[in-house]
Amino acid sequence: MKLTSISAFQDNYIWVLTDEENKCVIVDPGEANPILNAITEHHWQPVAILLTHHHADHVGGVRQLKEHYPSLAVYGPQEIKIPEISQFVKEGDKLELLGHEFSVIATPGHTLGHVSYFSYPYLFCGDTMFSGGCGRLFEGTADQMYQSFERLNQLPPETLICCAHEYTESNIIFALSLLPDDDQINKFYNKVKILRAKGQSTLPSTLANERQVNIFLRTKDPDLQRKVKKDTLLQRPNEIFAWLRAKKDTF
Ligand code: ZN
Ligand code: FE
Repeated sequence: MKLTSISAFQDNYIWVLTDEENKCVIVDPGEANPILNAITEHHWQPVAILLTHHHADHVGGVRQLKEHYPSLAVYGPQEIKIPEISQFVKEGDKLELLGHEFSVIATPGHTLGHVSYFSYPYLFCGDTMFSGGCGRLFEGTADQMYQSFERLNQLPPETLICCAHEYTESNIIFALSLLPDDDQINKFYNKVKILRAKGQSTLPSTLANERQVNIFLRTKDPDLQRKVKKDTLLQRPNEIFAWLRAKKDTF
């Protein structure tokens, strides 16, 4: 399978996987026009849509896509209240698409029903894990998001993190406010700045990279624990995670 990202809105990405016959699976089409244009340009044949959660910037284009391609299968968690869903998915479900297996992983936190889809090496994690950061807690708790991160962190290091927003630069600026001397984060920041200056995407990232630069995956890291300890007595990884998330909300 081949991976492509299509820009939508201000900073969304709609991810597309295609096979040798140009059949494609579309992830989180928040708006239809950019993806319809790409379908025409590349002669893709859409077979399915995967949805991670109910927010409009992820599902807003489904109706129009279904009008163009009535046989499209639409998968998503039960929290999505649109009539176009053909099958609800939940933790542990396996889908067979483009001749590959896709596993559904429950990743609550940003919303309660948020799911991610994994088909090696591709992970579509919506608004759960971002490069260098994590999604806002609109419905779930910090503990739920922490558990979701723990879960995703069990995937192989070469996993490609295909998240739904280009938030990398601001996430890394926040990380550097806490760990200004961290070599890996500084190195990554320089790379990200160059890409963004050219208007290029910083995604997909890899899980191996995230383990180094994403402070939300580094809650067991002594450097970060020492830094957080200056502000709070909380020290358990899930408490540090919650502290980081709250700090980022007002950064
Ligand atoms: Zn969202
Ligand atoms: Fe979003």
